[in-house]
Amino acid sequence: MEKTNETQYIQPKRPHNYVAFFLTLACNLQCPYCINLHGAGSRYQRAKRANLTAEEWIKSANRLVLRDDLPLTFQGGEPTLHNGFYKIVNEVKKEIKMDLLTNMVFDVEEFIKNVPIWRFLREAPYAAIRVSYHPGQNDINDLIKKTLKMQEAGFRVGLYGVLIPDEEVKKHILEVQETCIKMGIDFRTKEFLGEYNGKLYGTFKYEGSVCGKQIQSCKCKPSELIVDPGGYVYKCHADLYNGRSPIAHILDGNFTEEEIDKFRDCSFYGDCNPCDVKVKTNRFQIFGHTSVEIRNVHEAAVKLKT
Ligand code: SF4
Ligand code: SF4
Repeated sequence: MEKTNETQYIQPKRPHNYVAFFLTLACNLQCPYCINLHGAGSRYQRAKRANLTAEEWIKSANRLVLRDDLPLTFQGGEPTLHNGFYKIVNEVKKEIKMDLLTNMVFDVEEFIKNVPIWRFLREAPYAAIRVSYHPGQNDINDLIKKTLKMQEAGFRVGLYGVLIPDEEVKKHILEVQETCIKMGIDFRTKEFLGEYNGKLYGTFKYEGSVCGKQIQSCKCKPSELIVDPGGYVYKCHADLYNGRSPIAHILDGNFTEEEIDKFRDCSFYGDCNPCDVKVKTNRFQIFGHTSVEIRNVHEAAVKLKT
C-alpha cells in the first residue's frame, strides 16, 4: 500500500499479531529481575542512543495501518516517562487504537486529564491498560486506589502479577488477586518464565533456546513489529534489549510489512528471550504458537555456559 513516493504505509498482515513501540527503556522502579537493568543491553548503556522525539513517534505511528484487533502497544521501560507521551497519545491519527504496559507510577489525575479515553478502548478479552504489580517496588494499595480512579473516569485497567517460583511471593500475589477481584478490579496472574535458582521455568518450543548451554546459529522469522526507543526495528525481544542486529528503522520510508516475516540469520540461538519462544495460544485459540519461527539450528563454536 503506497502512501507517497517517499514513505510507504506499514500494514501488518494476519500473522503479525503484535506491534509495539518501546518509547523509552528508562524506568522509575528498580526491579532486581528487570531485563533492562542488567548485562550488555542495560538501559543505562542504551541511554547513550538518542530516543525518538514525540514528533518522530507520531510520524512513525501514522505510517501504520492496523486491524481492529491489532492495537499499537506502548511499552518500555516505563513508557509514560517519555516526555512527549501525552502529545503522542493525542496527536497520532485517530484510526490507531493503543494499549499501554505500565507500572502506573504516574500521576493519575494528570493522565485522566490528558489522555482521551477512546484511544485505549476497544473490544478485547483483556484491558488495554495493563499494569504490572512488582512486590517491593510499586505499592499495591496505591495501584488499587489509582485503578479505581481510572475506572471511575472510564478507562479499562487490568493489574498483573507474576507468579515468581517463591512460595511467599506466590501466596502474596494470590491474596492480592482475591482482594482485587472482590473490589471489582481485573487482576490476572502471569506465569514466571526463565531461570530461577538454577531451574528453568516455562514451556519453550525450541529446546536450548532460553538459557541455553551454547550459542548456536539458526534462521529466525519474527511475527511481531517491535521498535526500540531509537526507532530501530528488531527480529525479537532479545535483539531489542541487547541493541543487536536491527532489521530496519521505523522512519525508513521503504520499510514495510513485507520486511517483517523473513527468515534471517541469527547467531544468538540459546540467548533467546522467553517471551519470543514461549509456546502460547494464538488469537484463534490454537495452542502451539510462538512469536518467532526458528529453523536450521546448528552449533556455533562459542559456549555460553559450561
Ligand atoms: S517496572 Fe518493569 S521496566 Fe521498570 S524496573 Fe520493573 S521490570 Fe523493569
Ligand atoms: S533465534 Fe532467538 S535470539 Fe535469534 S532472532 Fe530468534 S528469538 Fe532472537
